[in-house]
Amino acid sequence: MDKSTAKNDEKIIKECIKLSKLSIKNDNAPFGAIIVMDDKIISKSTNNSKNKIFEHAEILALDKAHKKLKTSDLSSCTLYSNCEPCPMCAFMIREYKIGKVVFSLPSPFVGGYSKWKILQDTEISQFQPFFKGPPKIIGGVLESEAKNIFNETPLWMFGSSAKKEQKLRIIAKSIFTYSKNKKETLQLMIDLNLSKEEIIQAYVNYDMYVFVYNNEVYDDISLRFALYLHYILKGSWHQDRQNTILNFIEKIKPSSIVDMGFGAPTKYIKKYILKNKKKLVLVDLYKPAFEFAESLLNIWNSSWKNYISFKKLNMNTHKLPGSFDCYLFQDSIEHVENAKKYLTKIVKSSTAKTNFILSIPIGPPIPSHTISWDTSKEASKWLKECGLNILDSKKVYINPKVDLFTDNPKEFYNLIVLCCTYKKRK
Ligand SMILES: [Zn+2]
Repeated sequence: MDKSTAKNDEKIIKECIKLSKLSIKNDNAPFGAIIVMDDKIISKSTNNSKNKIFEHAEILALDKAHKKLKTSDLSSCTLYSNCEPCPMCAFMIREYKIGKVVFSLPSPFVGGYSKWKILQDTEISQFQPFFKGPPKIIGGVLESEAKNIFNETPLWMFGSSAKKEQKLRIIAKSIFTYSKNKKETLQLMIDLNLSKEEIIQAYVNYDMYVFVYNNEVYDDISLRFALYLHYILKGSWHQDRQNTILNFIEKIKPSSIVDMGFGAPTKYIKKYILKNKKKLVLVDLYKPAFEFAESLLNIWNSSWKNYISFKKLNMNTHKLPGSFDCYLFQDSIEHVENAKKYLTKIVKSSTAKTNFILSIPIGPPIPSHTISWDTSKEASKWLKECGLNILDSKKVYINPKVDLFTDNPKEFYNLIVLCCTYKKRK
């Protein structure tokens, strides 16, 4: 999505937040919805559930749009709301075939997207084509602004998520005080001119709202810091993943690695690249990734530039990163549009000596991902179809004590796979 659309989304969400304020003034619940078509506002509404329980802002806005446009096919419209639509509104959104839904606050307990997955469902449109496919979803737009309104009206505060937030805050704070990382994190904060509070907030938000965020959340330096805190969190699945990746790399001993969508520097850089003076290219789409990596690498090794370089690349363009001994995809291939086509293209362009290491998320779909795999078997089949031959793999599980991004830790795990191209066998 281009920046201008993101800016536009923010503008309309701001209007929804104003409507939610107006709702409170009228003694109603703090919700506001707006429907837009071709950059023009078609209808808007506040909540009126005090008088009629079903008169949610989204329903009233949809009804007005239907009357105004004289059609029940609103597929070229976008519905904006200050909060994730409830299941009742979500169903109406599906019936009116709304093409895109943008909201601010996620609603993990009564949401029609994250809790009851009406806005994600692909089966109803197969059963009854009248419904069309699920709308495009963008969540988490201006969420702290939207949340302020809710905090003014305690009745509507998202009570039970407060507990999780508190827990996350404690975990994030504790990472700063580990003696092992204390010096490093402090130095990074100074170098990047960030406050501890900013970083902790980014950490909390990431784990609270990972299921409603889109890729643009990564265009932020505090979030990169939060990623790094996740990576050094003791006992987290991130550590397990990093050790597995390091083991695989040490097994194949590549002279050059490309880390596609690297997020923030991880363990293998310190323990393999810098130690053995190998070549590494760190690829990402967003500038803050490079800013953060530069600061951290400066601390790790002052001559890192002799071995490591950065490359800005939008993987959605399917451009090739160049030729390397090893391609590493940690939390990245699943963010690429048409991931299979892209991976196949890279595999085809690589030589017989090439290895691939991928960290594949197994579990239910996540909005910022373009693809999901229900089982390891399914993921292995997918990799084979991309032209890869699996040499080794390890399942890495979530530690429910510290990895709090999901409330269902059993639903998710990562499959770390070491592959080579089939060409190697010939
Ligand atoms: Zn509703």
